[in-house]
Amino acid sequence: MSEASSLQTGAQLRLYGCPTCGRVSQLLHPIADSTPLPCPRCATPLHHRRPRSLQRTWAYLIAATILYIPANLLPIMSTSNVFQGETLHTILGGIEELRTGGDWLLALIVFIASIAVPMLKIGALLVLVITAQRRSRWKQVERAQLYRMIDAVGHWSMLDVFVVVLLVGTIRFGPLGGVMPEPGLLAFGAVVVLTMLAAGSFDPRLIWPEEEAPQRHP
Ligand SMILES: [Zn+2]
Repeated sequence: MSEASSLQTGAQLRLYGCPTCGRVSQLLHPIADSTPLPCPRCATPLHHRRPRSLQRTWAYLIAATILYIPANLLPIMSTSNVFQGETLHTILGGIEELRTGGDWLLALIVFIASIAVPMLKIGALLVLVITAQRRSRWKQVERAQLYRMIDAVGHWSMLDVFVVVLLVGTIRFGPLGGVMPEPGLLAFGAVVVLTMLAAGSFDPRLIWPEEEAPQRHP
């Protein structure tokens, strides 16, 4: 038996950490998830594990994956001027325009922020949620690091919005020109928000599953 499995867990010692203020409370009796007790300092409901964490994460992830397709296929905006009429722009088309225009660096930034990061984020969250559901003990430390990385990237999710602003700025407007948002932009924004919600719903404590039957000492 390994040294780790002989250690008592916080749940066995009835220690509950508050996700808001960080205070650790020791309770006399384990809490039923249906009637959570408030944190003594800030009144946030305390849970042994975030309620329905896997179900919520799955729901947000599936929605984000479905919307990722229209986000990239549908036009995110249309531009119009009196000479060329209306032109529709997709994210991939915008990247291609930047590349052929010689703006390699900007094309790379748009590709990383709009295509690569959301895809990697969805993929990494899928790995976390599938392994947590299987109560896997595979590479637990690396999976915890992966979760912290996704959490850190979350602060930069608004980068995608700046990218769209950059795209708008790089298109040269003729006289009497205009720009209109298209449905792709809505799907694109929804993917950003849904992946943030998925990462926020996942309880990283699920990476460390407890023994099925806790050992009892006579
Ligand atoms: Zn608290």
